Amino acid sequence: MLDSNYLIINRHAAKFKEMKIAGHTAVFIGNDGKVLDYGAVRLGDKVYAVLCCDEVRNISLVMDGEHSKDVVTLLWLKEEDYAAACRQIGDAAGQRLSKQNRKINRYAEAVAEKLALGVKLRITDAAVSTNMVKCPECGILNPPGSEYCLDCGAAI
Ligand SMILES: [Zn+2]
Repeated sequence: MLDSNYLIINRHAAKFKEMKIAGHTAVFIGNDGKVLDYGAVRLGDKVYAVLCCDEVRNISLVMDGEHSKDVVTLLWLKEEDYAAACRQIGDAAGQRLSKQNRKINRYAEAVAEKLALGVKLRITDAAVSTNMVKCPECGILNPPGSEYCLDCGAAI
């Protein structure tokens, strides 16, 4: 069980009390009332995809970083905060959120890794399983037309 909201950037986790949206930037406030280190996340044109998972109240942003793709993951303690954040982040980023299953964290990282290699991806809702391609190695469902499994990297 979670004991707090969490902001995870490139696998570094920090607790936060609340998120505020200022224009196209999400600002994360810690328990001491101050903005967290790296706690201002720009949601403008740098956002490649926004993935979410209702089951674990997780929102993951795949972003264009300076030299690589960054993954910003948010974990929410309360259902109502998660629901509000889905709306706010979707609006601020100008993007529809793609619903994913429980494996969202690894999925987001896999997306970032593929993008860093120059592979063009189309993000598909994992919740919608029609036309998805099952990986022969690990069995997860991949978007139609995938050449490689997003989870284990096996050729499909
Ligand atoms: Zn696989």
